[in-house]
Amino acid sequence: MALVVQKYGGTSVGTIEKIQNVARRVARTYDEGNDMVVVVSAMAGETNKLVALAEAMCEFPSEREYDVLVAAGEQVSIALLSMALQSMGYKAKSYLGWQIPIYTDNAFSKARIEEIQDSNIREDLHNGTIVVVAGFQGIDHDNNITTLGRGGSDTSAVAVAAALKADVCEILTDVDGVYTTDPRIVPEASKMEKVSYDEMLEMASLGSKVLQLRSVEFAKKYNVVVHVRSSLNDNPGTLVMKEDADMETVLVSGVTYNKDEAKISVMRVPDKPGIAAQLFTPLSAANIMVDMIIQNISHEGLTDMTFTVPRADFKKALKIVEETAAKIGAAGVQSNQSIAKISIVGVGMRSHSGIASKMFETLSAEGVNIQMISTSEIKVSCVIDDKYTELAVRVLHEAFGLDKQQVAQEK
Ligand code: ASP
Ligand code: MG
Repeated sequence: MALVVQKYGGTSVGTIEKIQNVARRVARTYDEGNDMVVVVSAMAGETNKLVALAEAMCEFPSEREYDVLVAAGEQVSIALLSMALQSMGYKAKSYLGWQIPIYTDNAFSKARIEEIQDSNIREDLHNGTIVVVAGFQGIDHDNNITTLGRGGSDTSAVAVAAALKADVCEILTDVDGVYTTDPRIVPEASKMEKVSYDEMLEMASLGSKVLQLRSVEFAKKYNVVVHVRSSLNDNPGTLVMKEDADMETVLVSGVTYNKDEAKISVMRVPDKPGIAAQLFTPLSAANIMVDMIIQNISHEGLTDMTFTVPRADFKKALKIVEETAAKIGAAGVQSNQSIAKISIVGVGMRSHSGIASKMFETLSAEGVNIQMISTSEIKVSCVIDDKYTELAVRVLHEAFGLDKQQVAQEK
């Protein structure tokens, strides 16, 4: 007998009928002799509706009331799922975050889980009750309702699994698992059997939307094995887990792309100590995350500084940078929103050389110009013109042997 945590996202609980399907699947796993905790998101589209209501009410809603509002969607879905299970003859009980409680810090709309009290849940499990938990929400130490950021139910599920030392945390979703790249761009993309926490972290931060980034950080920290799989069939999905020897042998595990950034260049800045701090401190003070940064070799004591910011923050960032540029005596500011960041990710890179140059050669063979490059131990990212995104993803996926037929041949 195992303790299983299952999480169902908004699309899996989007209608009464779908909730009944979820109930049947939960019941089946329970009937196999497992203790069950189910974490659910709001019904598809509901959280967006609540966000829109807040925006319609006022331009800058109070953060506390915003969280009270957007947490409401999950209250509906947990009650409905519990009803569905009860009408099938099972004992089921729903819990809001505060009823467990799931304690968080007080960073409204992006709170971090600090502690989960497991006694209520344990007692229910002990008497055979299926526990249904509202994802995405918690309570701070002053009894305020908090939410964990969009997509936060993934993190709720992993945190509950960690607190209960569950045997597995299943994330049931509308895709079959984690793919080597976006199958909408590359139909030959294949489903990975397993992927390491670090690779998944890179992929989540580089634009893969399968799991919320924080849920992966949590899983890594507490060593929770996360099984991402389809809620519509019983096929095994992808295990997100600790790195093992097999993973090292694969040079590149996945290709990702991200069109959510924009590029800003500050031209001919006087090259002296303190310039970077003057340029980037106002951006961080405005909560704008700067991603890639390059600074060229300086001539005549002048240098160019280029970096990327989230496209959503582009206007705000540009205004700040233009002000700073004038202050520090730069010659001007240039910007470009039509960029894409293409990345290759794989733990195998750590022990092999030549991966980056193969990426550059592959792009250049297609005439794709690389504007910026950044690397980490397990990834290489290139900024290119966004009109080449699909082409770049396709050729890199093939060049690194990730197409389905290529993978099959190697086995
Ligand atoms: N309902 C929340 C959202 O839409 C949380 C989640 O779906 O994970 O972001
Ligand atoms: Mg989600």
